[in-house]
Amino acid sequence: METQQKALFIIFGGTGDLAKRKLYPSLFKLFEKGFLNENFAVIGTARRPWTDDFYRNVVTESLVGVSGDKTKIADFASHFYYQSHDVTDVAHYITLKKLADDLDAKYQIEGNRMFYLAMSPQFFGTIATHLGSQNLVTKNGFNRLIIEKPFGRDFESAKKLNDEISNTFDESQIFRIDHYLGKEMIQNIPAIRFGNIITQTLWNNKYIDNIQLTLSESLGVEERGGYYETSGAMRDMFQNHIMQVVSLLTMDMPKEFVASEIRKEKLKALEAIRILKPEEVDANFIRGQYGANKAGTEKAYRDEEQIAPDSMMETFIAGRLMIDNERWSGVPVYVRSGKRLVEKNTEINIVFKNVEKNIFGTSDEHEHLGKDVLTITIEPDERFRLTINTKEIGQGFNTNKTNLDYVNSPETKANTPEAYEKLLLDALNGVAINFAHWNEVAKAWNVADVILNSWHDNDDDKTIFPNYLSGSMGPEASAKLLTDDGNYWIYNPEK
Ligand code: NAD
Repeated sequence: METQQKALFIIFGGTGDLAKRKLYPSLFKLFEKGFLNENFAVIGTARRPWTDDFYRNVVTESLVGVSGDKTKIADFASHFYYQSHDVTDVAHYITLKKLADDLDAKYQIEGNRMFYLAMSPQFFGTIATHLGSQNLVTKNGFNRLIIEKPFGRDFESAKKLNDEISNTFDESQIFRIDHYLGKEMIQNIPAIRFGNIITQTLWNNKYIDNIQLTLSESLGVEERGGYYETSGAMRDMFQNHIMQVVSLLTMDMPKEFVASEIRKEKLKALEAIRILKPEEVDANFIRGQYGANKAGTEKAYRDEEQIAPDSMMETFIAGRLMIDNERWSGVPVYVRSGKRLVEKNTEINIVFKNVEKNIFGTSDEHEHLGKDVLTITIEPDERFRLTINTKEIGQGFNTNKTNLDYVNSPETKANTPEAYEKLLLDALNGVAINFAHWNEVAKAWNVADVILNSWHDNDDDKTIFPNYLSGSMGPEASAKLLTDDGNYWIYNPEK
């Protein structure tokens, strides 16, 4: 059900990085493909005193490299309007309402509004409250609030924020962006799991030994040090992206492929994740912070701009999650994420159990008959690889590992819509499958809070950081977490 939509977008933070890098190019693609047409307009708001013409130029510049069709771009940009707006000033919402109503009439939008909050979360509550009190929310069309991460910095602040926005918008109108859920290979997880008898049958603790998820980045904090000092890997990656992916990997099969059923199963999966006791944290979760690289050409985190010289913020986490339900009892889910690691790679490894009897040798030769592994690479490659045991070519009978490999070609990748384009279209169509429900966010904070609190209660010893070299795969304790269980990280570019 993807038809042309009528909508007025009101973007808060219209001069910002996210708007220019992601939102304008994505909206253009939707316009180019006909999902948005004559009945759409955009009001960009931010503090700067820009004119409509200046704003249209900024939008046009953001499309360099996206399209060479000047006429289409000019047509697209003509739908953009700018309002200088301080989000804390009530008077500005009165002006904004007038402009919104005028554009609604001019473009015959019939009251459909998409409020996109592309700015600091500290303002989300204020904006939502004013949108309600100043009647920017219409009665005749749909009204949707799209918000960016981070959604709070712990359960308490997330709940406060949710209560604030819930005064104006109900859950069905709130679209919490987690851009991982817009990625092609993440969206592929349900297809792989529930579209195949092989995977559907084997996806449980009888056949799966452990699950591994790695989100590794080669870059450091770059120019986002100020933000990162308030966040760290746990809040930036674990609470949202990692928990979302784990829930997709471990949920039971939804009755139907619709948002309500999928969310029900994802929530059940999240609820089954064991919440650690403070005294269990150290044995199950480890934190790291990068130092310089061996050659000394890359700075340590503590030497980066806007970072405290004795900062205790983690740039790496690795952990073992246990899921207390019948399907997953006894199967560790190992997760890790960090900055300044060997290379950028997001990868899932499903490690299957050994065959019960190795007829090709004695049981202690099991290592020769390795475990089957299903690898799903999310980015930068988009790939599936099934590693299985086969006969080595030639005389005699030896087994070795063979990779059944599929990679999306560069052409396919180039023609695949970007995550933001897909998510914006979903939101426009009211499809909430790939957005996080409040209950999921809340549950993920419950899991993360215990770990964060336990770590930061022990921040007095500043000498524990840095504890890994830039260009490595993180602290040694990350490998130990798995070797203690007799396992190892399948993805290991350090080998
Ligand atoms: P940014 O700093 O580049 O832009 C912030 C925008 O908010 C600017 O347009 C600024 O003028 C406006 N603004 C700030 N204070 C204001 C006020 N009092 N009244 C009116 N306008 C005000 O930030 P960004 O990088 O675009 O990020 C925006 C949001 O998106 C944040 O929540 C961020 O965490 C999230 N996010 C960004 C990225 C990214 O790639 N940039 C990725 C994921 C999430």
